[in-house]
Amino acid sequence: MEPTAVISHVVIFGRPGSGKSSLAERLGADFGYTLVRTGELLRESVRRGDELGHRVDGLLRSGELVPDSLVNSVLEVELADSRDKTLLFDGFPRTTSQIPQLKRLETAFQFEVGCYLEIAVSRTVAVARMSGRRVCPACGATYHMSTKPPAHDETCDVDGAALEQRRDDRPEIIEHRQRVYEAYTDPILAFYRANEPAKVHSVDGALPFDVVYAETCRVLGRGGSTAEFPVQDRTSR
Ligand code: AMP
Repeated sequence: MEPTAVISHVVIFGRPGSGKSSLAERLGADFGYTLVRTGELLRESVRRGDELGHRVDGLLRSGELVPDSLVNSVLEVELADSRDKTLLFDGFPRTTSQIPQLKRLETAFQFEVGCYLEIAVSRTVAVARMSGRRVCPACGATYHMSTKPPAHDETCDVDGAALEQRRDDRPEIIEHRQRVYEAYTDPILAFYRANEPAKVHSVDGALPFDVVYAETCRVLGRGGSTAEFPVQDRTSR
């Protein structure tokens, strides 16, 4: 197979529970991508208790989307020192109205997205993954009750704190977030498939993590295995 040219700036898409954030973290660690994660930036604001945090707290708890103007303001701050960085957006754009917002940011901060990457999993797989997730409130370590359980009950292996479920990983919120993803993000991918088809790729996110990672690396021209799991242009749900 032809070697793929290295793709610099990336937008990663995937349902809540698709594993996209773990992939993004590993890409950041291995290749120095700067992660631009709007969900995390908004949660940080809530933790800091700043004005933005107060405005978005309720929306985050209920799994509703935050207004575009507020998302834009966190991105403007985050991208202010983005020069010479290789960006990986996770969680943005989240609505079709954020597509032109990304274009504006590309112009303003002089970068160009080279790949829109979908990590495709079914709703059933995503929901099962999310309902098992637990996080340590003290150190932030993450667990999964079926795939990465703690050694003792629901306590952190590092510091023994009682593990918690993220508020937005509760069952009724999980279902809601899946519906929000389908309603808002599917049309974004459809837009890019129609308008920039060469930049859109889809990797089957139901495969084991290491396989998904290898495929993702291959798509991004960063090496990885190719033989057994060819990347598809679309993965059915
Ligand atoms: P995430 O961690 O990406 O799942 O995002 C968590 C929450 O942050 C979402 O449920 C939304 O409430 C909010 N959020 C994150 N990114 C965006 C965005 N681009 N537009 C609107 N809301 C967002």
